[in-house]
Amino acid sequence: MNNRVHNFSAGPCTLPLEVLEEAREEFVNYQESGMSLIEMSHRGKHFDSVHSNAIQLAREVFEVPDDFSILFLQGGATLQFSMIPMNLLADSKKAAYVDSGSWGSAAIADARIYGDVYIAWDGNECGYSRMPSLGEIHIKANTRYLHITSNETIGGIRFVEWPDVNVPLVSDMSSDYMSRRIPWQLFDVVYGGVQKNLGPAGMAVIFVRQSILSKCNKSLGRYLRYDLQSEKNSMLNTPPVFPIYLLGKVLRWMKLGGGIEAMERAAEEKAALLYYAIDNSSDYFRSPVSVNCRSVMNVVFRLPTSDLENLFLQEANAAGFVNLKGHRSVGGCRASIYNAMPRSSVELLVDFMKSFQLSNPA
Ligand code: PMP
Repeated sequence: MNNRVHNFSAGPCTLPLEVLEEAREEFVNYQESGMSLIEMSHRGKHFDSVHSNAIQLAREVFEVPDDFSILFLQGGATLQFSMIPMNLLADSKKAAYVDSGSWGSAAIADARIYGDVYIAWDGNECGYSRMPSLGEIHIKANTRYLHITSNETIGGIRFVEWPDVNVPLVSDMSSDYMSRRIPWQLFDVVYGGVQKNLGPAGMAVIFVRQSILSKCNKSLGRYLRYDLQSEKNSMLNTPPVFPIYLLGKVLRWMKLGGGIEAMERAAEEKAALLYYAIDNSSDYFRSPVSVNCRSVMNVVFRLPTSDLENLFLQEANAAGFVNLKGHRSVGGCRASIYNAMPRSSVELLVDFMKSFQLSNPA
């Protein structure tokens, strides 16, 4: 298939072509059942096997220890902004949050509705151009957890080193899932929407430490309770069958592609190609974020003027490099290069950037 563009969207975004083609092949008549997967009961044998296969693959490729439950829930990462404080702040403890940008701030705003939340490091003061360094996060007494956003999708920064604090971590990993190993011993909850590195929009994957389940708040609607969702294996109600099905296929694609180690290496190499091009453009292209916090998933950059930026986006689009416009809240350009983005697309983008600079001097 040669009519696909180079899609640098921040999410929903490029998925592995092999996965899309495989899904198309089996869509109308799933495994000779005479119907598609999205037309059949979620309690039947076909979906049962799709569901357990996706959970098993998630455990395998994320290298999840046995003492974590894996949940597939609707409501995206946004519902987790509420579910985390609702479940974890049951015993009048406080929650510490790192305000690292748009998504960190969104998590804080929702958590404040449910509990006693304080900002343990405020990135607003440096224009969200970096993450805190290790000694900069201040944890108060009686803190239940520290919430971080390991990768800020809009700002284009990430935690390179995990915070070293004396409370459990909770991380939003929506935009860097499966691009790095997770040191599970540090975490009580890891969560993220799947529509970037893992599949189509429509659900979040949540990893919850099992030893905290019995202490989670029980005065919540059933869907909102981590303990019940874990007990029911995320089948408390009708699950998002199609996202779970495609998630399984993407996870298998990652497993066959060499697993987490290979994904991490490929992500770093692709990001290095782009940052090298930016850093060696005599300041034509500029990265607005601190070098040691640069995201390897969302590469943000600016051109010398907004006119040149607009022209760049327009010509890039015409050449098949689409969705390079930065988020509307920050402007500029952003290339999101999740795991399914082929290295060849990144190489072609770098060539395009060089020739654009030559033809359009500042
Ligand atoms: N957190 C991060 C880091 C994100 O990038 C996004 C979506 N772009 C969200 C949370 C919100 O995710 P959802 O749309 O799945 O609720």
